[in-house]
Amino acid sequence: MKNKYFYDVVIVGAGPSGSNAAISYKNLNPDLKVAIFDKAHFPRDKSCGDAIGPGVISALKRFNNEHILKNDPEVVSTTLFGPKNIGIHNYIPEVKNKEDSIVYVIPRYDLDNRIFDLAKKCGAVSYEGFRYINFEKKEDSLKVKFEDENKQEFIIETNLLIGADGANSRVRKSLNIKQNSDWHKAIAIRAYIDSPNYVDVFKERTLMFEINVSAIKGYAWAFPSKGNLVNIGIGVPLSLFKKEKMNINNLLDEFINTLSKRGVKVENLRMEKSFLLPFASSRPKLAHDRVALIGDAGSMINPMSGEGIFYGMEAGYLLAKDTFELLDNNIDKLNFGIKNYENRFNKRFGKHFLSCSLARLVFQSPFMTKRLLAIASADQHTIDFVVELLFDEANLTLKETILLILKFLMPINILKLLNKTSN
Ligand SMILES: Cc1cc2nc3c(=O)[nH]c(=O)nc-3n(C[C@H](O)[C@H](O)[C@H](O)COP(=O)(O)OP(=O)(O)OC[C@H]3O[C@@H](n4cnc5c(N)ncnc54)[C@H](O)[C@@H]3O)c2cc1C
Repeated sequence: MKNKYFYDVVIVGAGPSGSNAAISYKNLNPDLKVAIFDKAHFPRDKSCGDAIGPGVISALKRFNNEHILKNDPEVVSTTLFGPKNIGIHNYIPEVKNKEDSIVYVIPRYDLDNRIFDLAKKCGAVSYEGFRYINFEKKEDSLKVKFEDENKQEFIIETNLLIGADGANSRVRKSLNIKQNSDWHKAIAIRAYIDSPNYVDVFKERTLMFEINVSAIKGYAWAFPSKGNLVNIGIGVPLSLFKKEKMNINNLLDEFINTLSKRGVKVENLRMEKSFLLPFASSRPKLAHDRVALIGDAGSMINPMSGEGIFYGMEAGYLLAKDTFELLDNNIDKLNFGIKNYENRFNKRFGKHFLSCSLARLVFQSPFMTKRLLAIASADQHTIDFVVELLFDEANLTLKETILLILKFLMPINILKLLNKTSN
């Protein structure tokens, strides 16, 4: 006899990964009972650069939900700075795997609430202010324990438990999976500023990235949102952060100085918040007995760009697609579906994540960064490739690797000459 609180699927975490999983299950089969739990009440803030690219747009389009973005301004280009102030400006290229080559910058306080609302509108049952504690395996179901804000225990039953509870996932802990090692994690701080002249300084709405400038081996960003609002931040590998005993607020101050030197007015600095980024260079096992991990809980952040929203949302969809017809008590079949999800995710993104991990190694060396940016400023193909690694699912093929090695070895003047003659 099943508990009256029985759901086909229970999702822990109502961020973009969990909410998109709920949206996917309910669209694929509206009769499924889907519950989504979060310890927070929405809207809630989340430390993030707030940049969402072509992948998120296509994930929303899949179930006709892209309308939630329609009142936000588009970002049109990227500007990349490296050591010795080498700067490259590039338009966001036509990406190969997605319909739109558009980027938005929407504060997560807003964006996550909009996506969670879509999940509620599809009929997912939401529990806010409920903290996941642990789960217990029964023969024909899982018993999942939560606590409400008064520390009252609340137990529900389900066929499938999904851990979408972010970088410090407790569901992952329940599965006895360690967090990523410090080498495969970064720490980053995000803040908001008002800048009345950001768009004037860069001549347009551009995503500004900075590698190895304000912090050695560090990565900083300034992303324009609505009006004068700009999201700024800086991150470094966690291993280096601990080794060098760095202070994250000092890194942010350093970046604000650099921005000021570039002529950007920085006013009303607020909402500084640091957090960890578990990189996809070390992904845990995603498929378990009636339990699956998606999003940051499954270490799905691009190690080069820090982008994680798209991969988490896509994981939610892939999991739903592989399991929505298998929730009728045949545990072996359900586990087979969960395993299929893991294989499909790794097959689709494995090489891409590996390529981005290699790019991360290049960007960790000031010398190599300088060299790569010098090549990219002389060679459109290279900068397009870097931007595709950032915004699409590109990966380094053998041909691409050989070409890049040759370009690294070639004097820049010759590269420029070759480019001129081929254009
Ligand atoms: C500084 C910074 C900048 C970033 N910039 C970008 C960017 O510009 N673009 C991008 O795409 N990605 C960016 N990322 C990565 C991105 O933020 C994450 O990949 C993304 O939030 C993952 O979504 P998620 O749904 O998996 O997890 P989250 O968004 O973290 O959501 C997890 C949810 O689980 C809930 N939860 C946690 N524990 C429990 C519990 N025990 N019980 C119940 N609920 C629980 C939390 O309240 C939360 O709502 C950045 C990350 C950082 C730290």
